[in-house]
This record gives sequence, C-alpha cells and structure tokens, in this order.
Amino acid sequence: VLQARGVRKSFGHTEVLAGIDLDVEPGETVVVLGPSGSGKSTFLRCVNLLESLDAGRITVDGRDVGYDVRNGRLHELPPNELARRRRDIGMVFQQFNLFPHMTALENVIEAPVGVKGERRAEAVDRAVALLAQVGLAGREKAYPRQLSGGQQQRVAIARALAMQPKLMLFDEPTSALDPELVGEVLVTMRDLATAGLTMVVVTHEISFAREAADRVVFMDAGQVVEQGRPEQVIDDPQHERTRAFLSRFL
Ligand code: ATP
Ligand code: MG
Repeated sequence: VLQARGVRKSFGHTEVLAGIDLDVEPGETVVVLGPSGSGKSTFLRCVNLLESLDAGRITVDGRDVGYDVRNGRLHELPPNELARRRRDIGMVFQQFNLFPHMTALENVIEAPVGVKGERRAEAVDRAVALLAQVGLAGREKAYPRQLSGGQQQRVAIARALAMQPKLMLFDEPTSALDPELVGEVLVTMRDLATAGLTMVVVTHEISFAREAADRVVFMDAGQVVEQGRPEQVIDDPQHERTRAFLSRFL
C-alpha cells in the first residue's frame, strides 16, 4: 500500500529525515518506535502531504502522494487532485481535534457528506456502524465535552475510518490520555489491526507493538535503524541504538 524511497526532509540546516525507505503491505500493521526528535511525526506528515519532501518518493497504492509522473517527470498536482489523494490516507493525532459543537455522529459524517458528497442517510448508517465498531454504540448524540478522552479519541478514529482510507496513520494516539484510558483505545486499534486495516502506528506503547504489530520499525536520527517481527526487534535488537532506546522501557 505504502512505498517510501529515499525520503529526505530538512528544516533549515537540520536534516530530520535522512533517507527513509519503508514498505507497508496491504493489511499490515507497522509500529514505528524511536526517540523524541527522530523524525517519526515528520515522516507521517510527509506521507499525508502535510509536509513536502526534499528528495525521494512516497507512493500510496502505486501513485505518488503529491505528484503526477508524466513523461518521466514529476509534476505537482492541482489542489483538487491533491485533496482527493489525501483522502485515501486517514490520520489520527495525539490531540483528538473533534469539532466541539458537533455530536459524535456529526463529527463522523462531516467529511463523507461535506467533502465526498455522500448521501446523508448512507453516511449516517455507516457512522452508526463505525461508532459501534469503536465501542461507542449508543453515544452517537454525545458532544465531545460529554465524552472521556478515550471516547473522544475513538470518535476521531471512527471519523478517519469514515472516509474509507486505504491507509491509516496514527501519531501517538494515546499519549495525551490519562493512563486509565489508554487501554480502551489500544484495544480498539488492535481490533482494527486484526480486522485487516493497513496501519502505521507511531507509539511508545511497547506492549501494543508486541501484540498488534506485524512489523516493528525502529527509527533514530531520521533513519530506519532496524525493522522486523516485534519479537525480533523488541526482544533481540541487533543495533546498539535500538537496545539503548528499549532499555528505557524495562
Ligand atoms: P516525538 O517523539 O517527540 O514526537 P518525532 O520523532 O515525532 O519526536 P519530529 O516531530 O518528526 O520527531 O521532529 C524531528 C525534528 O524536526 C525535531 O528536532 C523537531 O524540532 C524538528 N521539526 C519538526 N517540525 C519542524 C518544523 N515545522 N520546523 C522546524 N523544525 C521542525
Ligand atoms: Mg512526534
């Protein structure tokens, strides 16, 4: 689904991404671990076109995320086509970013109806099903302020899923939550992984990586240092930098 090749990105004189190569296969759940400042969020933002690339290529479903290739050259996409391709990629952030004046249901149907032009009745049916899928059956009419942080984050996940993305990106989705609410969000995400959603998850939840990831990628200083099955990378890391990082969680 996702293919990244030689992705580079600098802010001023600081190279934040120093040549990232990463593939994500259909149905795969990839967990990205790495110290603060290693470029994890920047990489997700490049995939989602919130940042432009300095070099390299990222394709989703075989198409460049921000460009068209014609006559062997890259051409920037017009805004409407850019917006269309971004819809294939769902993103869930640390902060839930729900519309405070809309109910859970309205938050979920907003993009399908407002952006995609889906019929309201159909969007509502799917939103009800999605809210049930994230464990919020019966809470359709609740406003964000009436929901716990964990519930709000699950609405945000349902909202991203409502656009039927080909790829879901999660950037530390539980790190703004009270500890007792982390588990319910991770269970929801694990269920989505089991159901075959294609996901890239940046998290410091090592137990989630162990249980839900098909593959764990360790990033440091803008590079992929090592990757493999969770038990390989977590229990038997090959690189000193991975060992040093993981030792903090023991
Ligand atoms: P964390 O675990 O703390 O979220 P991260 O791995 O997600 O870290 P990034 O947020 O990708 O790291 O940041 C990598 C580096 O890029 C940091 O040094 C950060 O200060 C810098 N950086 C990120 N965004 C910008 C920006 N818009 N302008 C300038 N520097 C930036
Ligand atoms: Mg980050």
